Amino acid sequence: MDDCDVLIVGGGPAGSSCAWGLRAAGLDVAILDRQRFPRDKVCGGWITPQVLSELGIGTDEYACGHVLQPIRAFRTGWIGGPMLETDYNQIVSYGIRRREFDEYLLRRSGARILSPAALAGLKRENGEWIVNDSIRTRLVVGAGGHFCPVAKLTAAKPSRENAVVAQEAEFEMDEAQQAGCRIQPERPELYFCADIKGYGWCFRKGNFLNIGLGRLDQHRLSEHVAAFVRWLKSAGRISFDISSSLLGHAYLLYGVSERKVSDDGVLLIGDAAGLAYKQSGEGIRPAVESGLLAAQVIAGAQGNYSRESLAAYGRLLAERFGGSGKDWASRLGVHLPSALTGAIGRRLLGTRWFVRDVVIERWFLHSNQSALQQPAR
Ligand SMILES: Cc1cc2nc3c(=O)[nH]c(=O)nc-3n(C[C@H](O)[C@H](O)[C@H](O)COP(=O)(O)OP(=O)(O)OC[C@H]3O[C@@H](n4cnc5c(N)ncnc54)[C@H](O)[C@@H]3O)c2cc1C
Repeated sequence: MDDCDVLIVGGGPAGSSCAWGLRAAGLDVAILDRQRFPRDKVCGGWITPQVLSELGIGTDEYACGHVLQPIRAFRTGWIGGPMLETDYNQIVSYGIRRREFDEYLLRRSGARILSPAALAGLKRENGEWIVNDSIRTRLVVGAGGHFCPVAKLTAAKPSRENAVVAQEAEFEMDEAQQAGCRIQPERPELYFCADIKGYGWCFRKGNFLNIGLGRLDQHRLSEHVAAFVRWLKSAGRISFDISSSLLGHAYLLYGVSERKVSDDGVLLIGDAAGLAYKQSGEGIRPAVESGLLAAQVIAGAQGNYSRESLAAYGRLLAERFGGSGKDWASRLGVHLPSALTGAIGRRLLGTRWFVRDVVIERWFLHSNQSALQQPAR
């Protein structure tokens, strides 16, 4: 039987950030992931700069041996409509490859990395957890993404959840594809669906191309993706097909998710807790921040991992990400007909100030929210 103080299930950005936040807490922290790293993860790989500063990662240090694509501009619009360009004279974001980024975070986390194994069994015995009949721990942190099995332990997880569904392909372009790709590396492209229930993206990171589309509406996702790719070709953005390399995944948005984030001896972080930003779907930053906040609570709990003690984590999340996360219309119970929402949305997407100030800076860059400050050690 292996023993550890804290077992983190999942070695993605949430799990490794939590371990990194605990590196000086004097605890034996172990990470269990079902996959051997480096591993692929379905994701656009766009990160805001706050992610790097929160984890103390220097860009020069990371760029050495890893793809780190600076972003200085955006091309936006709606699928089938006109496009707007928004330029910044500075780097406002980065593109990374999840295969590289997640391995890098995991290796520097300071945690003990257990042999790859899926969490298959979890038993409670005398205030401790017995995991897979082979690991004993007092605290389990669920960081296994949207389908994290630890999330089933916190009783309030509803049986039906309104998740974002998305498909994406990332591949290295050959010479012919490079010649037929008009996406510029420093200028990712974002195109909203005509009904404003989702958006597609094309993102070039050096010679890697990432194309995908996510929607809040779970019906006919493949048709939306196929139509988006056809439109990209007809609009001359790419000259080749990508449909055979698309992979799908799902995740929950903060404010839509109703998962209970802590209980006796359990915390949920990242996608396991359902924390992605509502408007952009950015989930890496909330995964990192929730991992760091969880670490703060674990370190401060001094071995008391009761439900009451861990409840401080939910309060920190609410302080950081806001209360229910509902917009004004949902709070007032106002439901605009989708044709009207679509028409208003398409109109706004043609308005330069709205795209720059609201869509890009507020929703996608979160430039009004500075990096999470770490408590002094
Ligand atoms: C198509 C798509 C595009 C996206 N694009 C972006 C983007 O550009 N920028 C952004 O910020 N966010 C994006 N997101 C969201 C982002 O990918 C997630 O929010 C983020 O990966 C959450 O990190 P995490 O550590 O919580 O979970 P994950 O990254 O999912 O990591 C979970 C880990 O747990 C492991 N695991 C799962 N089950 C088990 C088990 N039973 N036992 C042991 N280990 C297990 C997995 O192997 C994995 O390594 C996108 C999501 C999708 C679907």
